[in-house]
Amino acid sequence: MKSAPFSYVRAGSVAEACEWLRRDGPDAKLIAGGQSLVPMMAMRLTRPRRLIDINEIAALKFVAIEAAAARTGACTRQCVVERDDALAMHVPLLRQALAWVGHAQTRNRGTVGGSLVHADPAAELPLVAQVLGATLVLRSGRRARRVPAVEFFTGPLMTSARPEECLEEIRWPVWPESRTGSAFTEVSRRHGDFALVAAAAQVALDEEGRCVRASFGIGGGGSAPRAFPRIAKRLVGTRLEEQPVKDAAREAAGEIDFFGDLHAAADYRKHLAAVLAERALRAARAQARAIAVEG
Ligand SMILES: Cc1cc2nc3c(=O)[nH]c(=O)nc-3n(C[C@H](O)[C@H](O)[C@H](O)COP(=O)(O)OP(=O)(O)OC[C@H]3O[C@@H](n4cnc5c(N)ncnc54)[C@H](O)[C@@H]3O)c2cc1C
Repeated sequence: MKSAPFSYVRAGSVAEACEWLRRDGPDAKLIAGGQSLVPMMAMRLTRPRRLIDINEIAALKFVAIEAAAARTGACTRQCVVERDDALAMHVPLLRQALAWVGHAQTRNRGTVGGSLVHADPAAELPLVAQVLGATLVLRSGRRARRVPAVEFFTGPLMTSARPEECLEEIRWPVWPESRTGSAFTEVSRRHGDFALVAAAAQVALDEEGRCVRASFGIGGGGSAPRAFPRIAKRLVGTRLEEQPVKDAAREAAGEIDFFGDLHAAADYRKHLAAVLAERALRAARAQARAIAVEG
């Protein structure tokens, strides 16, 4: 199918993009990599009257590592984030997750911000944002607001971003503990497809191998990816033995209202969620232990 008619402008700055958004209201849409928006338009699931291209805005394309957080500009391509070694060292979950996102071709064009704003419940980057507790910086005109990931994803393809806002950057917390391990895993019908269910985890151990910090989450099963801070907190103080890890994964899977579709039944997704969350936690633990041994 072809999209409904639209007009196109190329914004030279965030201020200009915001001005177009303010002027056109919900009739306009920003276009970044176009990897989700263009198919949606072609299927007429969305019919913006104007596309505002943000690809030429240099201020939206950067990676910066700071003490407490790594910052990525919203229009930074997924492939750039995937290949950045410093970023992989400070926020390893990003590279681990991106390996599962579509294909090299889609990552060459798709942006980090586009994936977050598109908010597919099965997308990998929104899950990482939830697990790490990322902050999204949204701008409209002169006003910028910081929104925690937990308040950003509100449902399938729904976020708390307002129509007049441009996502400027994402701040990914850097864990200070040296013995930190993380892992991302998922099951999809074919590699490169959206996940039926995905799970991500990050844990930090002290010198005795006791967990001092843990976070994990599940995506693809419910209306939006989510983390389980209350359950993860109970892992702190344990050595992440098999039983507490299994219990945590099962409890988390039990908290999600799974949907079924032609790809997988709700019960199967729930089963997968428990298995994958356990696997992610175990793999993160193994990585943290390996660092402990090397150190
Ligand atoms: C074949 C194929 C396979 C794929 N597989 C996967 C997969 O396995 N996992 C996965 O996560 N994704 C997958 N994708 C989607 C891909 O990751 C997209 O790149 C991503 O969802 C959207 O990023 P984009 O830059 O292309 O955004 P666009 O398509 O340009 O925009 C998406 C939405 O975000 C809005 N937007 C974009 N940037 C901003 C901004 N800065 N501020 C405010 N709003 C903004 C747009 O208005 C639009 O509503 C796949 C895509 C294809 C084509």
